[in-house]
Amino acid sequence: MSAHQEYADAIAVYALGAHGAPGREDALDAAEARALEAHLSTCAECRAELAELQRAVSGIGLNAIAEEPPAHLRHRVLTNARAHQSTSRTSAPAHLRTCATALRPQ
Ligand SMILES: [Zn+2]
Repeated sequence: MSAHQEYADAIAVYALGAHGAPGREDALDAAEARALEAHLSTCAECRAELAELQRAVSGIGLNAIAEEPPAHLRHRVLTNARAHQSTSRTSAPAHLRTCATALRPQ
């Protein structure tokens, strides 16, 4: 078994533990964490693995607590809605626009 495989589980636990659950039963103990960190400092492959897992973990976290759509999505929807609105206004039949103008309070 290569060192990477030995550390694979520890990396997964470390990635989860890094997202705010100190004292969890499945968290690494101090010695395990030190051993893993020592390996990580010498091993780019395991660092990349850890980074990927942490991204996945934070992605799960964000989705779990997200109650509103992301800001960029909200912005896009509103922009589309406004674009659609102005398109329909300009493409409304001329007689309707005349009526609307006539009915508008002076
Ligand atoms: Zn490694």
